[in-house]
Amino acid sequence: MSEYEATIGLEIHAELRTATKMFCTSKNDPDEKKPNVNICPVCLAHPGSLPVINREAVKHVLKVGLALGGRLADYTEFDRKNYFYPDLPKGYQLSQYEYPLVSGGALLGVPITRVHLEEDTASSIHSDDEGTTTIDFNRSGVPLMELVTEPEIHSAEDASAFAKELQLLLRYLGASEANMEKGEMRVEANVSVGKKGELGTKVEIKNLNSFKIMEKAVAYEIERQKKTLQSGEQVRQETRGWDEGKQQTFAQRTKEGSADYRYFPDPDLPSLQISEIGDFRADALAAELPVLPSVRREGYLQMGLKPDDAQLFTAEGALGDFFDAVARELPKDRRLTAANYIANDLVSVLRDIQKRDSDYSADIPISAHSLAKIVDMAGQGALSSRGAKDLISAVAREGIDGDLEAVAKDRSLLQISDSKGLEASVKSVLEANPSVVADFKSGKQAALQFLIGQGMRATKGAADPALLKKMIFEAIS
Ligand code: ADP
Ligand code: MG
Repeated sequence: MSEYEATIGLEIHAELRTATKMFCTSKNDPDEKKPNVNICPVCLAHPGSLPVINREAVKHVLKVGLALGGRLADYTEFDRKNYFYPDLPKGYQLSQYEYPLVSGGALLGVPITRVHLEEDTASSIHSDDEGTTTIDFNRSGVPLMELVTEPEIHSAEDASAFAKELQLLLRYLGASEANMEKGEMRVEANVSVGKKGELGTKVEIKNLNSFKIMEKAVAYEIERQKKTLQSGEQVRQETRGWDEGKQQTFAQRTKEGSADYRYFPDPDLPSLQISEIGDFRADALAAELPVLPSVRREGYLQMGLKPDDAQLFTAEGALGDFFDAVARELPKDRRLTAANYIANDLVSVLRDIQKRDSDYSADIPISAHSLAKIVDMAGQGALSSRGAKDLISAVAREGIDGDLEAVAKDRSLLQISDSKGLEASVKSVLEANPSVVADFKSGKQAALQFLIGQGMRATKGAADPALLKKMIFEAIS
């Protein structure tokens, strides 16, 4: 029923990619499997140890801010957020409260509230067998970026698109790998349903470990809240989780007012006057920004690429770079054909060879030059579209690097576009199908298509279809 509208606001944490942790020199290694090796007195919270701000982490967040078109803080500080939890032996988390590094900005049209920097906690590892919980401090003190959106997303698909776009941006910036399955990016979705234009009671969904789960959980939650409201009940403000077995969200805890974290500025850390610190100056950081995903995508769309292809080449850097190299060798009108062959035919070869459906490596088994050459051959009529696809597949799979015309000829992939080369095939098709020829003569137009089809078959797809049609038509008219 359309009288209700769903509203979603996201809170997204991402572990930043830095050599060392946020406030100490312990290694920041998300792939470390052995527990409690990247630790020191600071990230173990020993009394008397002193934190030092990691510049790289600050730069990452400021760059994210620039990329989002947000305002970079002039003044900023780190605050203690006080709470008790076994994975936080200090009793407080260093975070930012009143003065986030970044305010405002937007991504995919969704306004951003703020982006700030904090430290991750240690991880608790629960063992069901032994009934114990152990703590791994490798993650304790890892720089964590938190981004909060305004409540201005209105569907599960848009929420998921936003999170994917942020992941892509973080990867472009080198700020984070932002892999959700590894917990490098963690999304909390706040969902409410209300009368159009009004905000309803928000429910927070946590522990969403993949884009797919996130989208399913938000969609489920929207429906659940609509049904609740339609039955005359009220939605309870609470935190919910996702039950993958039951494919539904479930209540975890009810929020009773907001916790009082007693934020106050950390007395062991200096406040920062961002614009006065050389490394943090906006102009210096802007010069270090790469071409952003939105800009790259727009460039492809301007070239006339299909939205799906533009997205593929933006999200899959290796394919995008390959397409760019091919496009440089081709006139404008042939680039779209090249995009098509890469997005379909080359990708299907890569899927087979690299054994995955995304994250293709830069190890592309055909040179940009060869692919451009094949597109040119097809453009000049030397190859049919089928022939071009077969040739791309053969060259890529077999690693052929040589005279492509010779290869095409060897494998009978060249298109027959002179009438001499087609005469024999046309003759045999007409002789083998006298009744179809008669049908055509008595006015059945469809008979011509059948004969052309037979002709393509007789030449194993090598005939130039337009020429074949002309020859058959003239022979039977
Ligand atoms: P809290 O004070 O509970 O932390 P905030 O106002 O700071 O709430 O918002 C936290 C997140 O919840 C933000 O991402 C915001 O966009 C989102 N949010 C706030 N109100 C709603 C609502 N009514 N429906 C959906 N999301 C909301
Ligand atoms: Mg809040």
